[in-house]
Amino acid sequence: MHLLNADLHSHSNISDGTLTPEALAARAAAQGVEVWALTDHDELGGQARALAAAGAAGVDYLCGVEVSVSFAGETVHIVGLGVDAGNAALKEGLAATRAGRLQRAHEMAAGLAKVGIGGAFEGALKYVGNPDLISRTHFARFLVETGVCTDTHAVFRRYLTQGHPGYVPHQWAKLGDAVRWITGAGGVAVIAHPGRYKFSPTAEYALFTEFIAHGGRGVEVITGSHGVADQLKYADMAEEFGLLASRGSDFHSPTESRLNLGDLPDLPGRLEPVWAALEHRIHRAETTAAS
Ligand code: AMP
Ligand code: MN
Ligand code: MN
Ligand code: MN
Repeated sequence: MHLLNADLHSHSNISDGTLTPEALAARAAAQGVEVWALTDHDELGGQARALAAAGAAGVDYLCGVEVSVSFAGETVHIVGLGVDAGNAALKEGLAATRAGRLQRAHEMAAGLAKVGIGGAFEGALKYVGNPDLISRTHFARFLVETGVCTDTHAVFRRYLTQGHPGYVPHQWAKLGDAVRWITGAGGVAVIAHPGRYKFSPTAEYALFTEFIAHGGRGVEVITGSHGVADQLKYADMAEEFGLLASRGSDFHSPTESRLNLGDLPDLPGRLEPVWAALEHRIHRAETTAAS
């Protein structure tokens, strides 16, 4: 059986990726991606461009978003796939989720200034493609530029995570709200990269059960953040909880990302792929190119 090369998690410079939606669409086509979703953080501003460029490049497309959520003291990401990018409630919810980012960025810069790293706000801003969406990744790029660290992963380890000088706790969306915004916009909500969260087994169980109770239906099994052990664990959990399985690189940049677009292992054959449940939401390249 031919398993579709679906890559349903990626970022453009409308959030914290480095490529434009058009460059990503071209890259998806070159990489043999058959269904693609741009899933910028808390933002739908790149969807129309991604959809048009995917159509022109011959790649089927699902509108997507990655919503930042606070749950049990951790930041959790919920990917929405197949959403209507014009849905008013989703757009308002995302605008509210984005709203604190500027203030948070000033506080992050103040924390970094205290350990002798000056000008970080202005420095990060140079990397921002969308002033509504300043993120830790933009600070990480500035700290690599100034030579404080050699790569962005080291910046996160030493400066931008809990207990480090540039970390500022933040209240993101509520889990139930994020799931309802996505499902209300015709999409399927998916728990992003579950292997990345530092939850106890009890808290992780609570995340999955509450997510499902709110109407969430999917989980990422294959992602750039999962090693083989995580792939096996979350494949089992997808089966146990009756969740649709997703596959996405979480591609941000040709130089920073571990995986290229579409460059992922296949989903285990026993799982139901999320894109099979989203047939009716996929924008087919032929239709898009002709209209
Ligand atoms: P923010 O939404 O501003 O908190 O930024 C979160 C983003 O930072 C994630 O979407 C990743 O792109 C990036 N990120 C988080 N942790 C790491 C890490 N350890 N290494 C590299 N990038 C990371
Ligand atoms: Mn990111
Ligand atoms: Mn994420
Ligand atoms: Mn992501």
